[in-house]
Amino acid sequence: MSLFWTTHAWIDGRLQDKVLLSVDSQGFWDKIACGVQTPPVDALVLDGYVLPGMVNAHSHAFQRAFVGMTEQRSASPSDNFWSWRDQMYQVALKISPAQLESVATQLYREMLQGGYTQVCEFHYLHHSPDGSPYSDPLEMSWALVRAAKTAGIGLTLLPVLYERAGFEATSLRPDQRRFASSADSVWQMHLAIKQAQHPLVNAGLAIHSLRGASMASIQALHTLVSDADISIHIHISEQTGEVDDCLRVTGARPIEHLASHIPLDVRWQLVHATHASHAEINLVAQSCAALVMCPTTEANLGDGLTDMRYWLDAGIPLAIGSDSHVSRDWREELRWLEYGQRLQLRQRNVLASQANTSVAARLFNAAVQGGGRAAGFNAWGLKVGARADAVVLDASASGLQGVAIDYVLDAYVFGCDKSAVTTVVVAGQCINPIST
Ligand SMILES: [Zn+2]
Repeated sequence: MSLFWTTHAWIDGRLQDKVLLSVDSQGFWDKIACGVQTPPVDALVLDGYVLPGMVNAHSHAFQRAFVGMTEQRSASPSDNFWSWRDQMYQVALKISPAQLESVATQLYREMLQGGYTQVCEFHYLHHSPDGSPYSDPLEMSWALVRAAKTAGIGLTLLPVLYERAGFEATSLRPDQRRFASSADSVWQMHLAIKQAQHPLVNAGLAIHSLRGASMASIQALHTLVSDADISIHIHISEQTGEVDDCLRVTGARPIEHLASHIPLDVRWQLVHATHASHAEINLVAQSCAALVMCPTTEANLGDGLTDMRYWLDAGIPLAIGSDSHVSRDWREELRWLEYGQRLQLRQRNVLASQANTSVAARLFNAAVQGGGRAAGFNAWGLKVGARADAVVLDASASGLQGVAIDYVLDAYVFGCDKSAVTTVVVAGQCINPIST
C-alpha cells in the first residue's frame, strides 16, 4: 500500500483541498479523503495540481511515424481524407514489428507527457508486409504491448475486424492486405491477449467500419462476444462519402443501419460519428452506446463538424482520442471540440451547460468518465475502486501561476501553451514523463 497527499486534487468534478489518497496492493485507489490538513509522515507529497489520468480512447500508433509528412498539397487537386489514406497505407505497408515498437514507445511517452495514462489501440495492422500471416498472429500486437510496458502507460488492445474495401466489395484492396481478418480471427486474438495477462494490458474488440466489414460478419462477431463485458469500437460516419455509400447500398444512414441489425448497448463506442443526424444521435442515446471524438485528427483530415452540443445534451458518454497523433495532448482535443463549435456558430462557451458553466470542466469530466468506459474499466478517475492513475501539474507553470483555484482547469485547457505535467502516476507507480 502507498499513500499520496496533495494540496489540490480533482475529486468529484472539481479541485478540492488537502487530499489524501491511498493505493491498495493491486494498484487501485482504496481510500480518498479531502480536508486532511497535513500529510502523514509515510505519504508521498505530490507537489502541484493532481488530476485524473486521461484515457486516449482512439489510437493507431503506427500513424505517428508520418505525422508532419502530409501537410504539403499533393499533385491531386482535391487533397482530402481519401488521398491522405492512400499515403497512410504506404506507411502501413512498410512498418515492421521492431519499427512499430520503436514508434509506439516514443508515442506512448509523448502521451504520458500530455497527461494520458491509458491508450486504446484500434489495431488492424495484423500481417506481414506481403499479407502473409506472422507465425504468431499477435506479432504486431505484442510490439504494442512491449512499447506500452517500456513507456509505462496502460494499454487496451482492440483487434480490428477488417475484411473488405467498401460496401459493395467482397475483399480488401491489395494495399490493405496486412489488415485481413474475420470475426473468428479477431475473437481469437482478443482471447489470446486476455490469456497472456500482461500487467496494465486489457482487451476489447473493434470493427473497422460498416464499409470495412459486412453486416453478416459484424453479427457473427456480436454472437461470439455474447454478453462478455468488453468494449466494442467502430469507426462510423466519419466521411460524407461513407454516409452516401451506406444510403445507396442499404437505404439507411450508417448508425440507423447498424442499430437496426445489432442491439447496441453500453459496450459500443462509436468513433467520430461526425455526420450523424439528430435522429441517429437520439438512437445512440436510447441504446446507451457512447461517442469517441478525435477533434485534432478530424480537423487535420477535413472530416467536418458534428453537432457536439446535441450529443452532450442527449447525455451520451464522450471519450476523446488522438487517432492519427497530430496532437498528443488531451487539452488540444478538448480545445478543438469547443473551438469547432465556436467557429461554426459564432458564439462562445458553446459546450458549457447550466449545471457546469466551465466548458473545460464539463468536457474534462465527461472525457475522464467516458474514457474509462471506452477502455473497458467500470470505474475511472480519482475515486475509490478506480486504478490509481493521476497526473500532477506544476502550479508554478507559465499560464497557471497566480490563477485562482476555480479557474485552474480553464487556464490549463485554454491558456497554457506547454504541458505542465511533472509526474504521472499509473497503477500507483510514479513516472517522470520527461525523463522516461
Ligand atoms: Zn481511427
